[in-house]
This record gives sequence, structure tokens and C-alpha cells, in this order.
Amino acid sequence: MPCPPKPRLLLLLPTATYRATAFVEAARRLDVELTVASELPSTFEQAQPDRLLTLDFSDPERAAQQAYQFARTHPIAGVTGVDDTAAVVAAAIAERLGLKGNSVSAALAARDKHIQRSELARRGVPVPRFERHGLDEDVPELAARTRYPCVLKPLRLSASRGVIRADDPSGFVAAFARLQQILEQPEVAACGAWTRYVLVEDFVPGPEVALEGLVIEGRIHVLGLFDKPDPLDGPFFEETIYLTPSRFSEPARQDIVGCGQAAVAALGLWEGPIHAELRYNATGPWLIELAARPIGGRCSAVLRFTAGEGGRGNALASLEELIIRHALGMPLPALEREERAAGVMMIPVPGAGVLRDVRGIAEARAVPLVEDVVITAHLGQALVPWPEGSRYPGFIFARGETPEAVEAALRAAHRRLAFVIG
Ligand code: ADP
Repeated sequence: MPCPPKPRLLLLLPTATYRATAFVEAARRLDVELTVASELPSTFEQAQPDRLLTLDFSDPERAAQQAYQFARTHPIAGVTGVDDTAAVVAAAIAERLGLKGNSVSAALAARDKHIQRSELARRGVPVPRFERHGLDEDVPELAARTRYPCVLKPLRLSASRGVIRADDPSGFVAAFARLQQILEQPEVAACGAWTRYVLVEDFVPGPEVALEGLVIEGRIHVLGLFDKPDPLDGPFFEETIYLTPSRFSEPARQDIVGCGQAAVAALGLWEGPIHAELRYNATGPWLIELAARPIGGRCSAVLRFTAGEGGRGNALASLEELIIRHALGMPLPALEREERAAGVMMIPVPGAGVLRDVRGIAEARAVPLVEDVVITAHLGQALVPWPEGSRYPGFIFARGETPEAVEAALRAAHRRLAFVIG
């Protein structure tokens, strides 16, 4: 008897250079076919027409039609996107092909910070007070009537790029000008009309957490709740350490997840991974941002899951395996994170300049509990600090018995690294 064909997942990446290793490995372990689609044609596409596909990410409906054509000869059983733009395209493809996914309108609401704020506020989800302003408005006049402290941000960039806190009118004017410069860079300005606007919102004080979840029929299944032990008080908001399990009390954690769930329902997200940032203070949880995609690239390695039912014996499953299983409708394991504490440090940009050398990697890797030190910046690369920048030079991973021990290991490893900038 012929073998039934393996199910095929269509994986949407922002560019052909995005590192898809974790998904490729997960697909291999699950024995499913993987076709990788990105915006720019890959030189390998002709050699591997069933594995690589070029789609027009700037036009989700057109991309959906292109995927439909492809699926006539290479049936697609599931689709998923790894970043905010890809999530909207994935939604359009899911709608067109009748696959599991979000509606385009829900994915768009998650994508655009102003639409998102409006939808969440309308449905009573706790979000800071916000206003959208055009780049052509009278900035000193705006500064004079804004409430402080506030945060200025672009409508659609990611990784905290262009997000700036202002404490008074002169700080507002300076932040506005700095954000305007980012938005007027030709490659940003070309992205659409949203680059002509700035979102201004109240600064929400208090510690921040990141919530990683898988939405199934509109309900969040928590995959990880991360504390961020370094205060994120601005003026810029580069991330550093993520630690799980969270040290918040059980009732606080329930409140936080409840707020995430309310946001998922308000935006109408129905299926697939989400990554949310929330703050927690005396008033309770506040939704800072919800994205319809998994945690950014490298950081996903911090999460591992007990395989349990539907999984593979005692081996641990990766986040990418869960995402693929879910998208293809394969049996899911229990969705329980392993018992050990885990953490990742997004290594801070050490300064502006060209990276000449990184010393101490072996010493950093030798710190007990440290699992890996990955330097993603290459020598000769220009390092750009926030708020203009958005790329960490690397990542440190650790696992241990307690979040405290993991945090100490991450910091100790970081102290052993020396970045030489020329
Ligand atoms: P991005 O999608 O680029 O990451 P966010 O809107 O999530 O942009 O903002 C990035 C970070 O900036 C948040 O994780 C948070 O630390 C901080 N931040 C953004 N808005 C606020 C706010 N209103 N109050 C306090 N902190 C904020």
C-alpha cells in the first residue's frame, strides 16, 4: 500500500535570511513536510520548488492567491507566520485555503498598535490612555497639553524600536523629533501610511511580564509566563532578562492571564501562538501589547515542554513542535513547561559602533547552569543602540532549580563577555 502523503506546513518568514533552524528541526522530528515562504526570492527556490516559495507579503490577499496556486500541486495542511507581518499574511492564507488560523481582521488588529489600543479600550481591557497624532501636528502645542510621564511609539515597528518615554514637554519635543527621524528613514517610510503617525500614551509603572501562549478555539493555553527582573522604566525599552516560572503570586498570575485572555477575545484571535507584554501594579494587570506570533526567533529555545500524551516518550518538545502540531491538527502534548526554571538574556547593545571582537565566550559558557551563549552579531556589523536599533548582539540561556539561580547565572555569564567596538 502506498504511504499516505506527509502533511505540509507553510512557514512564513520575513526574509529568506531569517534563521528557521528551530522550525526545520521540529518539522524533521515530527516527520512533516515544510515549505518556507518569504518575501524575497531565494536563490535555492528553483532547485527546491516544493520547499521554498516567494509571496508578496505587502499584499496579503495576493499572497493568499499565490499560496492557493502553490497548494494546487503541493497541498498545504497548515500555515504559520513568525513575525507580525507574516501573521497577517498567514491569516489571509488560512482564510483562503480554509486552514486553522485567525481572521485577517484579528491579525491586523494585533499588528497595529493604534487599532489594537482602540479595540482593547472599546471592550474594557485595561490599557493606558492613548492618542494618535500626525507627524505634521504642532508638536510644542501637543507637548504642552500631554500628561506625563508618557510614551511615544510608532504604530507598527517591533522589538521596542522607536519606543521612547518622555517626562516633560521638552522631553516630549525631543522624543517626537527622534521618532520622526526613524519613521522618515526611506525603508521605514515606504512601509505605508502608518509611518506618518505617532501613538502617545500614559506611561504605566510597575514590573513587566511576558506571556507566551497558544490560542485554541479562542482560549489561551499558557506556555510560559516570564518575569523581567530588570526594571523597564525607559527612556528606551531594550529587553534584557526573561525568567520563568514567574515569581508573582498565584492570584496575580491568574489576573495577568485573565487580562491576556480578555485581550485575545477583544481582538477576536482564535487559533495560534501569541506573545503578550503586560505590566502589573496596584491597579492590577495592564495590557501593553499583544502579538499574534510566537516569542522572537532565538528566545524560543528557553521554552521546553514535557512531551506527555501525543508527544514522544520522555523527550522534551520545543515551542516550534507545538506550533506545528497545532497548525496541522496533530495531537498536542499536555502543554506543560518542563519543571526546571529557565531564563534568557537578550544581551544589551554595548554601544554604537562596528563590532570588532567578542571575548570571553568560552568563559561565559563555562558558568554553571549556563546552557548556551549565542552571538548573533557578526564581526564587522554595525551595532545600533535603542531606540533606533532593534537587534540584540546575542543571547545567553540558562536552566536551573530556581529562577534566582538562573538569573544569577545569566548575569555572571554576561560579566564574562567583552565586546570590542571600533
Ligand atoms: P514593540 O512592539 O516594538 O515591542 P511595545 O508597544 O510592546 O512595542 O513597547 C515596547 C516596550 O516599551 C514594552 O515592552 C514596555 O516595556 C514599554 N512600553 C510601551 N508602552 C508603554 C506604556 N504605555 N507604559 C509603560 N511602558 C511601556
